[in-house]
This record gives sequence, C-alpha cells and structure tokens, in this order.
Amino acid sequence: MAKMLYLIWPDHVYIDKCIEAGIDTLIVAVYSLPGDKNTGNYFDTWEQTLDVFKRYHDKVKCIALPVIYEFFEDLPESQCFMQANKYYRRSFCPTSEEHIKWRLDPFKELYEKGLCHEVILDTEHYTGAPMIYSEEVRCDCPRCAGMSWEDQWKTRAGMIKKYPMVTGQMWSHKWWGLSCYPNPSWLLSEETYMVGSGEGCSTKFGYKREQASAKKKHNVKYRFIPGAWIEPCNGTDKFLDYLKYLKSNSPYEGYWIYTQKMFSRWSKMDKGQIEDFRKSSGFYEERLVDEVDPNFFTKLKAIN
Ligand SMILES: [Zn+2]
Repeated sequence: MAKMLYLIWPDHVYIDKCIEAGIDTLIVAVYSLPGDKNTGNYFDTWEQTLDVFKRYHDKVKCIALPVIYEFFEDLPESQCFMQANKYYRRSFCPTSEEHIKWRLDPFKELYEKGLCHEVILDTEHYTGAPMIYSEEVRCDCPRCAGMSWEDQWKTRAGMIKKYPMVTGQMWSHKWWGLSCYPNPSWLLSEETYMVGSGEGCSTKFGYKREQASAKKKHNVKYRFIPGAWIEPCNGTDKFLDYLKYLKSNSPYEGYWIYTQKMFSRWSKMDKGQIEDFRKSSGFYEERLVDEVDPNFFTKLKAIN
C-alpha cells in the first residue's frame, strides 16, 4: 500500500507534516534537466529539485517524475518527431537513443547515488499534435522511415529497459506507453481526480476490466495508483473520505495526492489559471490546507 504525495512546488514544512501523517512516498515532478534554459520563474530548476531528493531520500521513498515534454528549448533535429516533412521541435522521436540518454542519464545518476528510488515518466503534456501517446502515429524521420509505429515503440521499449529504475508512467491513453517498462509497471492515474461535484470517477473507471484486457491483448500488466486532487474538492472532509475510499478499495495499491496550492507556500499558480480551474470544476481552494482545517493532518494520520 503506497501513500503518495505529488509535488510541483515542494515546501518542506508541508512535506514534513504529510510524512508525520503517514505519507510514505514523494512523487517529485521534474520539469528541468541540468544546464537547461529554465530560469526557475515558474517551474523549479534542476538544482532546486535536487534539494528535495537530498533532503528526503533517506526518510521516505522518492520517485522522480520527469515531464518528458521539452518546455525550455527546441530539440536537435536528430531527436525530433517528424511528420509530413515537419520536425516537431519539442516532441521526441521514439527511436532516438540520443534523446533517451539526454533525458534519462541524469536520473540514472540520481538513482545510482541513492537520491531517488524509482523514476516514473509524466507523459501528460503530449496534448498537442502529434499526440504520440494517444494516437497510432509513426515518426517519419530518416531513422524511422520504413518502420511501423509498433516497431518504433518496440525500439523505444528496448532502449528504456536499459534504465531499470524507470518503472512506469503517469497518464496513459494507450497500452504502448506501458509496454516500455517492467511488467507490471506503475500507472499513476489522473482519471480518478475528484472534482467539483465530489462524486469522483473511481467507481466508473473499470480498472479490473481494463487491466484484464491490456494483459490479454498486449501482455501489459500495471499496478494502478489512483490520484486524488484536493484543490477542487470543496471541503477537506470530503477529500479525506475519498482517500479513505481509494485506500480501502481493492485492487488499488494506494493513492496519490495531487496538489497545486494547499500543501505549498511557494505555488506559482496565477489568477488566470485558478479562474480557469474554477470554471471547469466549480471550485478551487487557494488557502493552505491547515488554514482551511487545522485538524487536517491529524485526520490524515487516522486514515493512514
Ligand atoms: Zn523518428
């Protein structure tokens, strides 16, 4: 049973409170790589993120969650996805070993130093064309020409398996992402976020059915960890009830808390983003969690 906390803007005061309340795993989002062009204005730099691993690696399990969309600079052509003679400068080619080395070698080093214990890839930001995690699109670059998209992904799987500390994926539309990791792999799901109405969708998610079908069709098996998002939840008791539900419903192997503002004094969410979330979810809490409910951490501890 894993009790996980996701971190975008880590705040050690709130991380410590969570650990005291039974959180045993930190999922540290990593937007940067060493020496990239990130100035730290919005997402933490590599060095800032490194501090979190240094502080917590010997206290709880630390999972590094690299966001594999390139935010800060164009990729060299040799690493880019290509379609209809166009290079997509922020999207990777599935057969580029150079790209995988650039992206994953820094995490291999973290792992070998004992600073992180596993690596899970965040594929969510592939939401613009080409949606290589949700469509069966093949790369047309000179290296990939002549390969089917399935062979391209098999090539990628072979290269990723050289990094055994990479154990799964956040956000999965299709099986081929999951086929790149050890079997079973971790799947951190965002489809279970509880928003607005508070009904959640965990009961509708059909985990068992999906698991059985992925195993049968593609020989892919995953360990499912549902995410719960606190800010749009409209009440800490409702949120804690949902965690209790996720924790007690087999075959879930735990839960992870998604948070943007309530567990960090350093959140960079701006007014426009918050208003957008309010419009889509109907609610968004901006206060810190213990300002809303001074007993939150005592209650969380009781659940855990
Ligand atoms: Zn290619």
